Amino acid sequence: MGHAKPTLFLSDLHLSPDRPAALRAFRAFAAGPAREAAAVYMLGDIFDWWVGDDQMRIPFVADVVESMRGIADAGVALYVGQGNRDFLIGEGLAKAAGATLLPDFVLLDLHGVRTLLCHGDQLCTDDVEYQAYRTRMRDPEVQARLLRLPYFVRRIIAAWLRRKSRNTKALKPESIMDVSIATVEQTFRDRDAARMIHGHTHRPAVHVHDVDGKKRERIVLADWESDGSYLEVSAAGAVARTISA
Ligand code: MN
Repeated sequence: MGHAKPTLFLSDLHLSPDRPAALRAFRAFAAGPAREAAAVYMLGDIFDWWVGDDQMRIPFVADVVESMRGIADAGVALYVGQGNRDFLIGEGLAKAAGATLLPDFVLLDLHGVRTLLCHGDQLCTDDVEYQAYRTRMRDPEVQARLLRLPYFVRRIIAAWLRRKSRNTKALKPESIMDVSIATVEQTFRDRDAARMIHGHTHRPAVHVHDVDGKKRERIVLADWESDGSYLEVSAAGAVARTISA
């Protein structure tokens, strides 16, 4: 009498050598609960920066990829999406990790619930400046030009962008850094979804939106600090869990 295996969702791990506790927590996640799941969805900002799949040569990245590979090798369907920090994640990483690269939005039927997945930055439309930057950076030609630059140059650009983003963020009101409720409601409507799961804002919560007389649930995933966090979804519902190492 086996129970159906849950599906796990996580985002905003922001893995980097500066955050060893998060790296350890991910290793524990990959070796533990991830292997007992039906599927694992990593919804972006897995890495604090990503300048191209040739970044896999760096030891801490190779280590993370090996952990991901372990999940896939255990027979678990593994999915990887891009965040705003690691939007350059490509097929190279997906292939090495045994994962499937996700598009911007993914709609799936999860235990009869039409569930929409995304990183979440797409929903922050009040931040007009960021959305313009996002559109530019998602242009395949811009990305190809970026990826042709030598690795060390991309690394410098990434560090510069990060500094710039930190400075502009400090000047922006809190509200425009969150999702736009109008955009959330329109997205629910457009995709006819009953549940949405996203990260990005680092404001973990469960929101209920009344859209056209129908209650829809929006689950915001937690970012990783010293503990890891993930959402476990089964036929019984959705439960937030933490893991530490
Ligand atoms: Mn993000």
